[in-house]
Amino acid sequence: THFGFRQVPEEQKEALVGDVFSSVASSYDRMNDAMSLGIHRLWKDSFVSSLLPRLPPSFHDPDNSASGPQKIFKCLDVAGGTGDIALRILDRARDKFACRDVEVEVVDLNEGMLNEGRKRVAKTMYYNTPQIRFTHGNAQSLPSHIANNSIDLYTIAFGIRNCTSLPAVLSEAHRVLKPGGKIGVLEFGKVTNPLFKEVYRQYSFSFIPILGKIIAGDADSYQYLIESIERFPSQPEFAKLMQEAGFKTGQLREGKGGAWTDHTGGIATVWTGVKA
Ligand code: SAM
Repeated sequence: THFGFRQVPEEQKEALVGDVFSSVASSYDRMNDAMSLGIHRLWKDSFVSSLLPRLPPSFHDPDNSASGPQKIFKCLDVAGGTGDIALRILDRARDKFACRDVEVEVVDLNEGMLNEGRKRVAKTMYYNTPQIRFTHGNAQSLPSHIANNSIDLYTIAFGIRNCTSLPAVLSEAHRVLKPGGKIGVLEFGKVTNPLFKEVYRQYSFSFIPILGKIIAGDADSYQYLIESIERFPSQPEFAKLMQEAGFKTGQLREGKGGAWTDHTGGIATVWTGVKA
């Protein structure tokens, strides 16, 4: 691949990623809050509301279940970890559209993260409902029960940069989405403003490993996370990869009508596309 882990052989990379997330799973949510000063919550809120400005009309129809088989809006949240995105999708559908005909399957490579997610869901109204389930699996070759053309919305948040092959992840996403289905990728972008870029660099390289050591007792894992951010492609490079995988995107620029939207100066970026 062009991006990431040049020095780590492919077979070792997944094991390495596994170790990183096993060692941080239980402190993962606290670390996110500490590292981003809580801002990751706003990025995630905005990610989910931009992908679900509304639900397709049939899902607002109170007779959805009366006429023919009940329709379900199917979401797949890949590298979904502790369920942050999945729970936001379900909450938005319920709070905003009074709709519970939405199901999210969370797929993640790490059992530790999945178990944290399961524990978290046990405290919500979605516990023991078909609305959410957690599945062990790899973004690069999704579990075989997820059929071609079966998904309405595919999300991946802060997960794709850990994958060995970005084209493999995108082509799997494209395969399982229904024609017209949407993909949303939330990931660390590149900060373009030179001054802000330097501040961000200093912050990441000095402060984050220290926070990692204090909160998670593990500076190395967080050092790894920072390096993975640096290696990830730029906003236009990633948008091109999406197009190469067959997605229709906006134009190759930031903002309305563009292929991506930057948050906090490009620290985080949302790319969206549609399966043609
Ligand atoms: N989406 C969650 C969030 O935004 O809080 C979790 C993000 S966490 C930084 C990255 C997740 O990606 C971890 O849970 C890790 O296990 C998972 N992951 C890494 N490589 C993966 C792969 N190839 N397939 C599926 N999940 C993967």
